Amino acid sequence: MNSRNRMYTPRPRLRRNVPFFSIILVIIIFVFATQLIQNEPDQNQSGEFLGILQVSFINVGQGDSILIKNPQNEFMLIDTGSGDQYDILKSYLDNQNVEKFEYVIFTHPHADHIGSADKIVKEYDIECLIMPRATNTTNTFLRLLGEIEAKNMVITTAEARTVGKEYIFGDAKFLIVAPVKDEYENINNYSVVIKMFYGDNSFVFTGDMEKNSEDDIIDKFGGGISADVLKIGHHGSSTSSSQKFLNLVKPQIAVILSDGGKSYGHPHADALERITNTGAQILRSDLHGTIVISSNGQTLDIKTEITP
Ligand SMILES: [Zn+2]
Repeated sequence: MNSRNRMYTPRPRLRRNVPFFSIILVIIIFVFATQLIQNEPDQNQSGEFLGILQVSFINVGQGDSILIKNPQNEFMLIDTGSGDQYDILKSYLDNQNVEKFEYVIFTHPHADHIGSADKIVKEYDIECLIMPRATNTTNTFLRLLGEIEAKNMVITTAEARTVGKEYIFGDAKFLIVAPVKDEYENINNYSVVIKMFYGDNSFVFTGDMEKNSEDDIIDKFGGGISADVLKIGHHGSSTSSSQKFLNLVKPQIAVILSDGGKSYGHPHADALERITNTGAQILRSDLHGTIVISSNGQTLDIKTEITP
């Protein structure tokens, strides 16, 4: 009996094992396939992007601060506004549950752009910090360099040789557009300018670049600088936003960040006239407060803090 049993036992075991292994195999294939699907970009069968790219132009008065969130819930910050606006910036970042940044760009070393840059570097993890090869002797800039050194961070410089370089930001990506040259007289023209792409939509962020840098971008990119949304250069100053540049960008929406002229007379009437000539919808932080433009990869949605 024992020997018979031993002889016969393998068969039923085998029969039992076949469905068992089949089920395991099906589970493995299912898990693997699910992971493959999850690793693909967040698009449906027609290639439409399903997530939202959210761009917040935070109202920090006379200064720039722009927060970008991609569909992967990763964050990017362009400038911080002045030091006295830090509470406004910090509460906005807290409301958006920002814990770290994939990218931070300090466009150029002027206080209305890097006023709280030292605090941002100190308080947040930053994967990639992008700055131009421009210096300043102000305490604000020296404090920033001190914090960068204290955290042993590497600065990724944006300069002539890096123009055209692409960075992946989840389902979005951006391109370094300027500074095209390594020598400018005015610090504003060293401003790091990027073009952000998400599906069919694009945004150009300009820092405080003026006409010289705009002309270099025109020579380098021509119509390639066109974008749906343009952050107007230098708070709508008359020395930025040449008609030629604006006509090439052809924005649907132009965003002006300023305190409405209290500090420096920004935006300037001449620049406003040129921007109006493009037919773009003009959104101003001094009139609309914080401006949030969301893209689903095809269309743009605008939300403003104030309805003027
Ligand atoms: Zn500025």
